[in-house]
Amino acid sequence: MNCGNCGAPMTFVWDRDHFFCEYCKTSALLPGALSDVRVVDEKSGVDCTLCNAEMQVGSLQRERVLQCAGCRGLLIEQERFLRIVDGLRAAATGPPVIPAPLDRGALRRKIRCPRCKGVMNTHPYGGPGNIVVDNCETCRLVWLDTGELKSVINAPGSDRGKPPAKDADAPAD
Ligand SMILES: [Zn+2]
Ligand SMILES: [Zn+2]
Ligand SMILES: [Zn+2]
Repeated sequence: MNCGNCGAPMTFVWDRDHFFCEYCKTSALLPGALSDVRVVDEKSGVDCTLCNAEMQVGSLQRERVLQCAGCRGLLIEQERFLRIVDGLRAAATGPPVIPAPLDRGALRRKIRCPRCKGVMNTHPYGGPGNIVVDNCETCRLVWLDTGELKSVINAPGSDRGKPPAKDADAPAD
């Protein structure tokens, strides 16, 4: 993104969720909702493992993710994925959706890691949602096909719709 004021390329400041221009000190908010993938950069230098389209750099819950503009697949660092799931499930406001049964056929699919090109591990996800995930141990990345994150977020569970308590301990009564 270029600066609306001086035209220079802007830098994205992840923890503040905005673009900043080093030259004229203008800042611009990244539009959209924290719970959606918002595109920070059209170019990531990483091609989608399924459709070969170049993946975009996106922000989801202020975490850096890669999203394929073609098939909407997501590539997320494992630690970020865990934080994203916790955050989105806690923030969920819609009713839970019973996930479809695990697709056994999906367990047989083998895909390559978009970053290192090694064959990814394909296994049932240990959390909610009955999804099959692919992960690369080398790069510590998780691949999610389109719709899989939604299944995880919408699956029933007591952690849904419960924003974490404030840091300070609440009084007992
Ligand atoms: Zn500027
Ligand atoms: Zn794709
Ligand atoms: Zn890899």
